[in-house]
Amino acid sequence: MKVACIGECMVELSERPDGSLARGFGGDTLNTALYLARLGVAVDYVTALGDDVWSAEMTAAWAREGIGLDRVRRLPGRMPGLYIIRTDEAGERSFHYWRDRAAARDLFAEPGAAGTRAALAAYDLVYLSGISLSLYGEAGRAALSETLAALRARGGRVAFDTNYRPRGWPDRDVAQAAFRTALAQADLIFASAEDLDWLFGAAGEDAVLRHRGRAEIVLKASGGPEPVARVLHGGSDVAVPAGPVARVIDTTAAGDSFAAGYLAARIAGLAPEAAAARAHRLAGAVIGHRGAVIPRDAMPALDRAFSGAGA
Ligand code: ADP
Repeated sequence: MKVACIGECMVELSERPDGSLARGFGGDTLNTALYLARLGVAVDYVTALGDDVWSAEMTAAWAREGIGLDRVRRLPGRMPGLYIIRTDEAGERSFHYWRDRAAARDLFAEPGAAGTRAALAAYDLVYLSGISLSLYGEAGRAALSETLAALRARGGRVAFDTNYRPRGWPDRDVAQAAFRTALAQADLIFASAEDLDWLFGAAGEDAVLRHRGRAEIVLKASGGPEPVARVLHGGSDVAVPAGPVARVIDTTAAGDSFAAGYLAARIAGLAPEAAAARAHRLAGAVIGHRGAVIPRDAMPALDRAFSGAGA
């Protein structure tokens, strides 16, 4: 089983109260790739970077996590995108981006794009998010969609996570059209009720549930007393609650790790409902720590055994 995650990882700068900056790296599908690798899944990250020192440090960090680099394109003279996280006096965080010229946006337009597309079409499972879609522009998205069609024609499967960030899109109509295309091509859909509401308004749930029966759907709602994942597959429709989390420290990468936990469990042969329970457990551990990437020894014990006995 060979898995690819498509997207963008950026340089992350966190501003401290005195104005100094701490550097990290961040990106939604990269987080999912990282947790998949930790769970024993063979996964490649599919993106473009520059030939600068930060791009080199990123790929070195990914390699240390066991993420495959064969599909990382390094574009001469280019750079990764960058964002600053600023925290106000009330502890509220805001994100500020410099990403319009990021190398990742040219993944389907740079000279090696044909090779990337041919390689992508050969994976067993490709995972991407709404943020991935926002990177490529109309022509890039058309190339991506053709590639996913070729993959599916060969029997490969597509997993799509709705992650909608309005500022990544020229307007809501463009985003809606791109999401509808991706949802129609997805065999497995991770959707958060919040994303669907922002993007489609009252028609949000229907935009996803119209694919029930054809696609496996995990609809996440966090409005109630505890988050619930509604899992629909075949004729079945079951709500799987998250269960209590001792302390929520930082919800960064909650959804990204949820997707990784779910996919790893499904790959290991668990049923969808059991996979959702595992996904909640991993996400629950991730939100108990600061930042997107938790220490290795904080990974839930059973999740580490996914690739073994399927326990
Ligand atoms: P995102 O906003 O990153 O997409 P979600 O809100 O969909 O994340 O949450 C993903 C998962 O993270 C949930 O299904 C749940 O497992 C876990 N989670 C998030 N917030 C909480 C919380 N307050 N209590 C328990 N689990 C949570």
